[in-house]
Amino acid sequence: MASKERAGAGSVDEPTDQLALRRANLSRTLRHIRTNGPRSRAAIAAATGLHKATVSSLVDELLSRRLVREIGTEHSGSAGRPGRGIALSPDVGAVGIEINVDYLAVHGSDLTGRTVIEKRVSFDAKGRDVERCLDDLTQAAQRTLAELVRRGVTPVGLTVAVPGLVDVARGVVVLAPNLGWRDVPVATRLAHGLDPDLWIGVDNDANLAALAEYTWGVAAGTDDLVYLTGEVGVGGGVIVNGRLLRGADGFSGEVGHLPLDPGGDLCGCGRVGCWETKVGLAELVRRATPDVAYGLEQGPIPDPEERVAEVLRRLGRGDKAVATAVAEVGRWLGHGGAILVNLFNPRVIVLGGYFAELADHLIPSAQANLARMAVASTAARCHFVASHLGFTAAARGGAGVVVERMIEDPTAVSLAPAPSSSLAVAR
Ligand SMILES: [Zn+2]
Repeated sequence: MASKERAGAGSVDEPTDQLALRRANLSRTLRHIRTNGPRSRAAIAAATGLHKATVSSLVDELLSRRLVREIGTEHSGSAGRPGRGIALSPDVGAVGIEINVDYLAVHGSDLTGRTVIEKRVSFDAKGRDVERCLDDLTQAAQRTLAELVRRGVTPVGLTVAVPGLVDVARGVVVLAPNLGWRDVPVATRLAHGLDPDLWIGVDNDANLAALAEYTWGVAAGTDDLVYLTGEVGVGGGVIVNGRLLRGADGFSGEVGHLPLDPGGDLCGCGRVGCWETKVGLAELVRRATPDVAYGLEQGPIPDPEERVAEVLRRLGRGDKAVATAVAEVGRWLGHGGAILVNLFNPRVIVLGGYFAELADHLIPSAQANLARMAVASTAARCHFVASHLGFTAAARGGAGVVVERMIEDPTAVSLAPAPSSSLAVAR
């Protein structure tokens, strides 16, 4: 009976090391349950190599932190006696909120991954200054957190997804051209209106969506994938060898500003001929349905899905001009896709946002141009696929980041005993 407590081998007596070890073992136990589903204490011990008594103590702490719960009996293995199953708790959860040019998307889920809240509302970032946007964002966060509490889930954190460059460590949006934001301390600003115990993160929308795709999406588990978000702007999240590529400053993935056409149109970033001026939603609408293009209307910008639905309606009616416009956007999609294939050699390029809704019409010309323009002959092995996660992929990824953080360090979570007593937002 060699030491089963492998994680404990080599540790010394210093309290900090003991705490770090305890934290690592709590994380390991929680992660094991998330990966493998409900397990008895004995089964967890057998699989992790931790001693049974250690596992019991770890599970007790996770129970007291309300991160797991006991369910019916589970067999611990072929020879083991049945024991009480330990499952992730549906009482604790997380929120993701995406702010974009013309909508806010919110997602709230519990630790088991169950979606509790998911919705998207029209929003006009262009018509509001930064302060007003942050007020609206704070109110949306308050409403979502309160709604989660009403449904019996205590939120422990929130991530805001933003279409731009984000200093993740400081929670500051460095630059979001389409929102007109520069150096906006989103996390600090939001913290003023929310429960001080709530963890608040800020991250790039496409990075978060890429994480959501990698975890729950149509190409889940594909270790080399690129996610493209098609909104008014175009962003990218790049997963290489199963990890999100962030770059030296965390600013990688700004694929919407790949300079593709030196003689092209002015981009929101101030440069000319960026990829998003060729394939962004505003450009699609301008080409396909110029009578309802961005900037023409009085009043608030209508829902982006309505714009896409109008394009689909006209395609359905056999409108040749619209079909030509969509195919042209598809060709530019393949053009930029070829650059990504040359750089990252992904197995799939997942199309999110409006790209997903028009995927059947965009992918044929995109795929053909990708095959023509990518250098490697195996480029054909990289396929465009449509995301199934819809407009809330980034928000969902944001909630996922909170859950991942909680699993990484279960002791970072401080929960009041009663589900709603710790929340200042539940008005
Ligand atoms: Zn640009």
